[in-house]
Amino acid sequence: MNWLPLLHRSDDVKFIIFGGGQVAQRKVQTLIKFTTAITVVAPALDARLVVLAKENKIQYIDSLAKQAHVLAGCRIVAATDDTAANQQIADWAKALSCPVSIADDPASSDFIFPAIIDRNPVMIAISSASESPALTRYLRNQLDAALSSRIPQLARFVATLRRTIRASNSDSKQRQQLWRTLMSSAMPNLVLAGKEDQARQVCDQVIAGKRHHGEVFLVGAGPGDPDLLTLKAVRLIQQADIVFYDRLVSPAILEYCNSKAEMHYVGKAKANHAVPQADINQLLADQAKLGKTVLRLKGGDPFIFGRGGEEIELLAEQQVPFQVVPGITAASGCSSYAGIPLTHRDYAQSVRFVTGHLKDGTANLPWHELIHPQQTLVIYMGLTGISHISQELIAHGMSADTPIALIEKGTLPEQKVYTSTLAEIADVIANNAISAPTLTIIGDVVKLHEKLNWHN
Ligand code: SAH
Repeated sequence: MNWLPLLHRSDDVKFIIFGGGQVAQRKVQTLIKFTTAITVVAPALDARLVVLAKENKIQYIDSLAKQAHVLAGCRIVAATDDTAANQQIADWAKALSCPVSIADDPASSDFIFPAIIDRNPVMIAISSASESPALTRYLRNQLDAALSSRIPQLARFVATLRRTIRASNSDSKQRQQLWRTLMSSAMPNLVLAGKEDQARQVCDQVIAGKRHHGEVFLVGAGPGDPDLLTLKAVRLIQQADIVFYDRLVSPAILEYCNSKAEMHYVGKAKANHAVPQADINQLLADQAKLGKTVLRLKGGDPFIFGRGGEEIELLAEQQVPFQVVPGITAASGCSSYAGIPLTHRDYAQSVRFVTGHLKDGTANLPWHELIHPQQTLVIYMGLTGISHISQELIAHGMSADTPIALIEKGTLPEQKVYTSTLAEIADVIANNAISAPTLTIIGDVVKLHEKLNWHN
């Protein structure tokens, strides 16, 4: 059986649905987005259909006995739970030359319902010829996640642009070339990010044949597990022409980049910068000015101990468009995967993120503020200084048996969690080959690890 996917004008098409149960209800839910002319025929209605009937969103008839004439000119959907009744309805429909769709019987149907991704005016219909509904739903969900919810805005923007371009350029070959350049420029992503003014500027430059800026995406890659990337991160990662990534970005995440993208490692091993920060900032700006889509991929969240702010300052000064996508920061990722809630009504009402590695190489922290009761401390970059930090906390009044956890390679398959106390953590570090990246959590919440550890 072959099915031709056509888009059906829906505003003046009448649908009659036979059946008042769940199957009928699902068909109505689909159709109601497209037409107001829906009549449901059934002896009784599902609760949700009752609501729709009360709100006059559908017409309801309990029996067609005296009104068979209403079928004429309609599309018919037979969705009762009785196969013989569905067949009877199909026979009526055929006698009246009405197209019919019979639930679970594509062979006798004139049309079938696809799975729909609705980004009106963009519609994506997916069908497996009714053979594998589970597969169609799976594909629908995959595609749905890959497509921004702002596609409607982009569609409207492009439609307006099309009218402008048509009016100003009569050569269809030139127009096609222009569209190729426009669709691979920063325009689509600027519109999707809600920055239509900037998108218009890029279009004006492209149309005028001037060099236009690309865009920089500063994207948080999360703590390591690729499943913790946001939908937006994945979408933007896949689009980049050139990628600058850090040491903390896991190889599994780099797999998401376009296979044609130019990949550059600019990471640093502690105090040993592969590419100086100022050069990274400049590289991002320079590449975007060449019209490229530039991805700056950083571990965790770019704005938490990530220098993300420094990298986009230069872009802002040089008027290069950029977007920032938050990532799951190590504190969230590691605490979740270690079963250590950062706050808990019995143990901690506040949480404080500190870096154990300051610009001048020492950990000169505001110790008095860190020893508050009922506060969880999360220390980033602290492995080498952690014994010193523990001693200072004790010296400033924190109890020596305060629980402490070291989470090594959090959220990755190699994750390890070491728990101890402030007094004894130096021994744990001395007796185990713990390697970076490691995050430290200090506070009573660490006690929950034993009970709540779920990950490995
Ligand atoms: N911007 C990042 C932090 C960068 S600082 C974020 O938001 O997570 C680097 C420090 O983060 C590391 O030294 C370590 O303390 C911590 N870190 C990052 N990823 C980690 C991981 N997978 N496991 C443990 N610690 C991690």
